[in-house]
Amino acid sequence: MKKFHTVIIGGGCLGTASAVSLARHLKKTNGNPASICLIEKNVLASALSIRHSGIVRAANADNVAAKLGQISTDMWNNLKDIWGVEIELERFGALWIAAKDENSTNPKWDQLAKDLKSIPIKFKKINKDAALKICPDFINLFDDEVFYHEPEAIQLDPAYVRKGLYDAINQSDVSFFEKEEVIRFKKDASDKITEIITTKHVIKADYVINAAGPWSSSLFSKLGIAVPVSVEPVFVVNWLNNLATHKISMPIIADYVNRAYFRSWRDGEIHMHQPRKRGIHETSTTFADNPLSVIGADFINDPVNQIQNYSQIKQYEDIAHKRFKNLDHAVFSSGYRSYFDITPDLKFILGPDNKIKNLIHCLGSGQAFKFAPVFGEMMAQYILKPGLLSQYGDSFSIKRFDKTYMKNFWKKVNGKEYSFYQENSAL
Ligand SMILES: Cc1cc2nc3c(=O)[nH]c(=O)nc-3n(C[C@H](O)[C@H](O)[C@H](O)COP(=O)(O)OP(=O)(O)OC[C@H]3O[C@@H](n4cnc5c(N)ncnc54)[C@H](O)[C@@H]3O)c2cc1C
Repeated sequence: MKKFHTVIIGGGCLGTASAVSLARHLKKTNGNPASICLIEKNVLASALSIRHSGIVRAANADNVAAKLGQISTDMWNNLKDIWGVEIELERFGALWIAAKDENSTNPKWDQLAKDLKSIPIKFKKINKDAALKICPDFINLFDDEVFYHEPEAIQLDPAYVRKGLYDAINQSDVSFFEKEEVIRFKKDASDKITEIITTKHVIKADYVINAAGPWSSSLFSKLGIAVPVSVEPVFVVNWLNNLATHKISMPIIADYVNRAYFRSWRDGEIHMHQPRKRGIHETSTTFADNPLSVIGADFINDPVNQIQNYSQIKQYEDIAHKRFKNLDHAVFSSGYRSYFDITPDLKFILGPDNKIKNLIHCLGSGQAFKFAPVFGEMMAQYILKPGLLSQYGDSFSIKRFDKTYMKNFWKKVNGKEYSFYQENSAL
């Protein structure tokens, strides 16, 4: 039987970050980095962690998430210190666009700017002329819109990140079991996991980190605990244009008028997708529709579920035409259907489980790539020595989804309490 200090289940960006941070901290204190074991049932970063947009920004309606986003942005900028590797990144900032109301402003967004200033995060309202100045000349901005600039937002290429994750694992001496699936657990009378049973090994560990993303709900139902994670499908399209030879410094465009994120992609392409749906009614319906608890999240990787349909691409084309002058003769380059991992309140699940004593959760909720370095460090603090990051993590404990919360949540799913629609959640 194999024995490890900590086993991390799931080799996405969050599980890998957790493994690397733990191993590097152990190494620094003369511990054994190989006593950290990362288990991935397919290959590294092959699920949600390869189908994202590589955007790292701090702006967030939840103040703690915003602070964590800020710390994480610093970590991405100094990744060598955190993971021992460097990954190429682009610092083009982000332009947020929202609709003006009848008073020519947008109180909700102005409030967000105020909240972020108090953290402090650079997120400033700018006028249309200033917004035009930070954009390439092929972007349309309109008089009935308001603009906010987040200069420190950065963007990475998910393919480079994936290579960086492999490099970080190799350099940190983590024991990495790839193409090996955790299938069940044994626990003792004191509710501690005593054995992790995989397709190849039986493993003992002092601690277990759950970084299995949307697979968590089916995997941990075997231990009798409910991890409320579901998935929401979203389409991604990359548009080919005539910018292949240009180095475009285009800010990330968070377009809340047309509900789309845009960024420059490889070879000058324009990459776009829609954001998560925010309404509690829509979120709860996603939970009701989703078969995760029965069959797990494997359908995400089924090619049949990654195909786009014509009407969706056409809809994206219409949105892209409104915002980009140069997409008038654009050609569909590539696209796929991806999935947001979501929780009932669209916030992360972090920190110790409230029933299983040696289990710690590290789950995202549709916006977690950017937090990978900070969540990795946070997991190291939970296990090795509590600190500021684990304190922040406590705001996202699984214990908030207690029986009363979930009872009310399911009422919304059943359509009895759609008034909760106003409870729009985090950005
Ligand atoms: C279109 C789109 C764009 C996005 N853009 C951004 C963005 O710009 N910035 C951002 O911050 N976020 C973004 N996100 C969100 C981001 O992709 C996810 O939040 C993040 O990738 C989640 O990472 P993860 O490690 O939790 O999950 P995953 O990458 O899904 O990792 C979980 C892993 O666990 C493994 N696993 C599951 N069960 C087992 C088992 N039993 N045994 C072993 N292994 C197991 C799986 O194979 C998988 O590899 C985007 C999402 C979408 C859909």
